[in-house]
Amino acid sequence: MAVAARRKAFVVDVGGVKVGGDHPIVVQSMTNTDTVDVPGTVNQVMALARAGSELVRVTVNTEQAAAAVPRIVDTLDKFGVRVPIIGDFHYNGHILLKKYPECARALAKYRINPGNANIGRKTDDNFRTMIEVAVENQRPVRIGVNWGSLDSALLTRMMDENAQLAEPKDARGVTLDAMVASAVESAYAAERYGLRSDQIILSAKVSGVQDLIDVYRALAKVCDYPLHLGLTEAGMGSKGIVATTAALAPLLQEGIGDTIRTSLTPLPNGDRTEEVIVSQQILQSLGIRSFTPQVTACPGCGRTTSTFFQEMADQIQTYIREQMPQWKAGHPGVETMKVAVMGCVVNGPGESKHSNIGISLPGTFEEPKAPVYVDGRLLTTLRGDRIVAEFIGIMNEYVASHYST
Ligand code: SF4
Repeated sequence: MAVAARRKAFVVDVGGVKVGGDHPIVVQSMTNTDTVDVPGTVNQVMALARAGSELVRVTVNTEQAAAAVPRIVDTLDKFGVRVPIIGDFHYNGHILLKKYPECARALAKYRINPGNANIGRKTDDNFRTMIEVAVENQRPVRIGVNWGSLDSALLTRMMDENAQLAEPKDARGVTLDAMVASAVESAYAAERYGLRSDQIILSAKVSGVQDLIDVYRALAKVCDYPLHLGLTEAGMGSKGIVATTAALAPLLQEGIGDTIRTSLTPLPNGDRTEEVIVSQQILQSLGIRSFTPQVTACPGCGRTTSTFFQEMADQIQTYIREQMPQWKAGHPGVETMKVAVMGCVVNGPGESKHSNIGISLPGTFEEPKAPVYVDGRLLTTLRGDRIVAEFIGIMNEYVASHYST
């Protein structure tokens, strides 16, 4: 089954990165440093960009954070890191964007949460102020609705209207409808205040997988704005990765989604770049985009009682990831390469033949030799202690001869 054609959406330019239309689905991430900590935030943005994040969002929650933003962008620029920086605003965005015009200019896009832009107010003055700053600076916005901070006045009105119906929907259905309405009505309001249609991206994030699929299917039907996909508060470790994949994959398969983020909760001092790797892996596993050569490794079983092939798969995967910055620059197309590292003769030769380059290691009780296949043909058989080094050498030669400019 092929991935469906992408839903048609406006193309939004975010600091030179195109989101929507037929442009590649953009991977983005968000820092978890204190934005006031300029060196710490710069370092994390650089790590995220190096891992492949094409847009990076930072929180702008205080006056000090707003004052730090231009310094963060300047420092990144000095280091030659040009990844567009997005400001995440809640509650006081209208004040910060007005009071810190350099912050407004330094940011490539503003994320506005309509659910908390005008809390306690009868008008949408705060929301309108942020849109007016965006128009003045010609910056796009993401109108990001979140289940946890949905516009309560809108939800109450829709609940009341629903209660009057002959066949009212359940609370879940009304809440999802309210999320779609909040996103779309806010986008229309932004256009009334002067933003162009191709300066608006929408998101409607929830933390439940089925809810997310339903809300984005509904949103995709009623508007042409590019959609930012993400399961909010996905959680930690394998739970977060699996839930995000389960939520995003059906939507991406249906052609819904123009930019994605994986919202993983890292372990204390954990690696923030994991969220970038997961987003890339989702897109690559679906065959939508290629980022890095894929290593197919068998899970191992009773036929491989040593850990040798696990270590080898890990060493090769790590080597490939470390080489990617240079390979990407000098060897275009290398990201589509497939490498197989297999544990024994049962599936090893077959899987290796389906890859660009593959090795079948000896299982327990097998003769201690490792046939290497290149483009489906047996190239050589490795033996001895230097199997990993020799296999990496063969892989380097393959990259140099097949993916050179
Ligand atoms: S390829 Fe061999 S070692 Fe790997 S899972 Fe299959 S039977 Fe087990």
